[in-house]
Formats: sequence, C-alpha cells, structure tokens
Amino acid sequence: MTSRRSLLALASGMIGVLPAAKALARTTAAGAGGARVLSTWDFGAAANDAAFARLSAGASLIDAVEAGAMVPEADPTNHSVGYGGYPDRDGHVTLDAVIMDDAGNVGAVAALEDTVHAISVARRVMEQTPHTMLVGEGATRFARAQGFPQRNLLTPEAEKAWRDWLTTAQYRPEANSENRRARTPGGALDHDTIGLLARNPDGRLAGACTTSGMAFKMRGRVGDSPQVGSGLYVEAGVGAATSTGLGEEVTRIAGTARVVASMRSGKSAQAACEEVVKHIASLRGNAIRGVQVGFLALDPRGNVGAFCLLPGFTYAVTDMAGRTTIHQGTSLFQA
Ligand code: ASP
Repeated sequence: MTSRRSLLALASGMIGVLPAAKALARTTAAGAGGARVLSTWDFGAAANDAAFARLSAGASLIDAVEAGAMVPEADPTNHSVGYGGYPDRDGHVTLDAVIMDDAGNVGAVAALEDTVHAISVARRVMEQTPHTMLVGEGATRFARAQGFPQRNLLTPEAEKAWRDWLTTAQYRPEANSENRRARTPGGALDHDTIGLLARNPDGRLAGACTTSGMAFKMRGRVGDSPQVGSGLYVEAGVGAATSTGLGEEVTRIAGTARVVASMRSGKSAQAACEEVVKHIASLRGNAIRGVQVGFLALDPRGNVGAFCLLPGFTYAVTDMAGRTTIHQGTSLFQA
C-alpha cells in the first residue's frame, strides 16, 4: 500500500514514449538534496517509506534497504515477491534475493523455499558465512538453522493462478521453460521484482533486490535478481544500480555491473541506464521484441537514472525530506 506521503507524479515529460534525448535531460527525479531511497515499480513506494523511516531513526543503510524489501515480501497481494509470489511450474514458490553495500559486503540466496523474508536470509549469508550466495536446499536449510520462521509461501490465490495457468498455458515443459511471457490468467506480464537503492547524506550507498522470479518458471530457474552485477551492484563513490524485467536479458550482459561501470567512466546515472538498455537492444534485436527490462541507478549525490525497453516501468523516489513520488520510466521503444 502506498502511504499518505506518497503521491502520483506523472508529470508531463515523464512518460515512457519520450525519445531518449529528452530523457537525458532528466537526471534528478527528486527534490532538493536528491533521492534518498529509490525502488522499482509503484509498489516500491511503501518499501521506500519503510526504508526512509529506518534511515531517519539513525539505522544503517543495510538496515534500511532490508526493512524496505521486507514490505513487499510480506504482502500476500504482491505475486512477484515473497509470500504470495507465484510458484514455479511445479507449484513451488522459490525466492531470490541479494543485499549489498558500497564496501563490497554482499549476501544472496537463490531458490529459497519456506521463508518469507529472503532478503533477511541474504543478509545473514553476508554476515554469518564466509560466502556470498547460498542456493536451493542449502539456502532453505541455512534459513531454518538461523531460526527464520518456516511457512508454506503458496497462498490459495497464487495456487489458483498456477492451476489456471496449467490448463490455459497448454503446459509443455520444454516450451514453457523458454516462455518469455509467463502471463497470469488475467493476461498481465508477470515478473516484477523490487530493487531498492538508498544513500545517506555522506553519499554512501546500499541496495537490496528480492523476487519470486518469473511466474511459473522452470524449477531451478534463477534470474538476474540475486546475482551481483545483474540484479544489483553498488560501488562506493560511483553509484548503485538495480534491474527488473526478464532476468535472462540482464544476466547475459551483467546489466547492473555495466550500469555502474558506465557511471565510473563519467556517465550520469540516467545516461548509464540508457546505454545499457540500448546495448541489450542492439545485441538481441528481434529476440527482445515484447520483452521488458528496466534499470534504476543512483549516484552518491542522489541523482537518479531510470530507463527501460518498453513503456510501463514505474519507480518510486523518496527525497531527502521523505516525500515519495511515483515516476514513469522513459523507454527505448514505444510498445
Ligand atoms: N527480474 C526478475 C527475474 O527475471 C523478475 C522481474 O523483475 O520481473 O527473475
């Protein structure tokens, strides 16, 4: 749910059909002082508010991004993150998450089952193990051993959607494992991750990314979200970036590592997001027709970048005063 402080800011000049040249002019999407918290999709507004509240209370950036990511993870009406997420094609809800600060501390889980807050398990991997990622059975066992409450993540609503999909999708295992458009019975393209970036007044950065992945995915499939340099990348003094959309198109080019590398070379957050989206388009040509990929970036001064392949990518920006606005990402293609 969007808080009262959140408001819709679909001002003219901020719609996805603008040519890239105009998008370049819009590098700061927040009020004075720049952005403090930034996240993918309009449902990110509530996550931003939770993260901002922690920062205002003096918590660390890692505490803040974790708190933000936990909001959609606990929301059973959100079918792309955490509890209530749509399952894989075998009916198992599996979660992917990563958390990272700008000092290179990172933890991740992939194909985690039975624990709502994948982001907290990722943080525990970062803080309690010598590793950066645990997957599948090992991740689930680790979460249990760490005392995370265990529960079935498949809600009746998500189970019904999956059962409907089994009939309407003309279920064919091989074909569906390659299905780029895992559509819900209602027809919506259903892969929406929350990627959340935050900065403090000193310009330090951290991020979190958490998802249930592509709806009705092949069992064992892991997308971009939990992979450092794909779903999230953070570098001190340079910037942070996160991604959403069809994970395979991000993973194959290490998308967020590229965005941050582009910022390191002197590009603005906005120009860096545009460069990487255009790279995907030129590399993949017709293969990405109808596919969505979106990047968000944040620099140490609070400048925001956002760019995507197709219209419809929204993101939430919270400025230094705690004001949250929803924006429409500019896109490379019109449809
Ligand atoms: N990128 C995520 C994945 O492919 C899903 C999404 O962001 O929509 O798993």
